[in-house]
Amino acid sequence: MPKLSGKNVLITGASSGIGEAIAIKFAEEGASVAINYHSGKDRAEAVKTKAQQAAQKAGQKVKAITVGADVADEAQIKKMFQEVLHDLGSLDVLINNSGIQKPASSHELSTADFDRIMNVNLRGAFLCAREAIRHFLNRGGGVIVNNSSVHEIIPKPKYVPYSISKGGMENMTKTLALEYADKGIRVNAVGPGAIVTPINMAWINDPKARGEVESHIPMGRAGTSEEIAAVFAFLASDESSYITGQTIFACGGLTLYPEFRVAWSSGE
Ligand code: NAD
Repeated sequence: MPKLSGKNVLITGASSGIGEAIAIKFAEEGASVAINYHSGKDRAEAVKTKAQQAAQKAGQKVKAITVGADVADEAQIKKMFQEVLHDLGSLDVLINNSGIQKPASSHELSTADFDRIMNVNLRGAFLCAREAIRHFLNRGGGVIVNNSSVHEIIPKPKYVPYSISKGGMENMTKTLALEYADKGIRVNAVGPGAIVTPINMAWINDPKARGEVESHIPMGRAGTSEEIAAVFAFLASDESSYITGQTIFACGGLTLYPEFRVAWSSGE
C-alpha cells in the first residue's frame, strides 16, 4: 500500500537535490505534488516529469505542478499557496525544504548575507508554515516536515547564519508542534548529515575533499537524497501519526560525537 495515497503536498525548493528526491518519492507513494522553485523553471519542469514517471511506474494516479516563489518574499508565498490550493484543491502536507548557505568568517560576514540566509532558511519556513497552518485549521489537520540539518545541534564555524537558522528551526518545529498538537497538526523535522546534492558542490566531485568529509562520518560515506526523502515520506505519512515535535537525524552517525569512537578521554 503506498504511504501517501491521495495526499496533496507542497515542497519548497524542489527543483534540485533533496527537494527533487522528495517530489519523486512522494509521487511514487501516491501523493500529488506541488514543486516550488525559486529560479530555473526548466529544472522544476524536469522534476515534474520525473515525478509523473515515478508515479506511473508505481501505478499511482497523481497530479504534479510547478509553482515559482521566493520563500523570502511574503507576497510570493501567499500567491504560491493560492495557486497550489487552486490547482490541487487542498493541502495535506507542507515540506519546508528550501535552504541556502554561504561561508564567511563571522567578523567579515555582511549584514545582507546574514539577512538573506535567515530570510530563506528560517523566516521563509515560518511564513510557509503559517500559511499551511491557516489552511489546516480550516480543514481539521495537516502535516509539516522541515528540512533542518545536523547543524541544528552541531556548531558550524564560518556558517553562523546557517547554524542559527537550523537551530531556530528545531525550536520552531517543537513550538508549532506543541501549539497545534490538539488541532490535528503534526510538525516534525529531518536532520540530514552530509548528503550528495548541489549545495555541497565544494566537495562531492573532488575525491580528496570528499574523502576528508567522509572520514568524519561513522558510517564512512555521504548519504543520498533518496535516503533523506524516505525519512520525509515516513514523517509525512500516517505511519508516523503519533510523532510530533521531533527531529529525526539521518546522518550516518554524525550526531553521535564521532571523536569519542576511541576512548581518548579516559586514556585507554
Ligand atoms: P540544493 O541547493 O539542491 O537545494 C536547495 C533548494 O532551495 C534549491 O532547489 C533552491 O532553488 C532552493 N532555494 C534557494 N533559495 C530559495 C528561495 N529564496 N526560495 C525558494 N527556494 C529557494 O541543496 P539541498 O542539499 O538539496 O538542500 C535542501 C535542504 O536540505 C536545505 O534546507 C539544506 O539546508 C538541507 N540540508 C542539506 C544537507 C546536505 O548535505 N545536502 C545537509 C543538511 C541539510
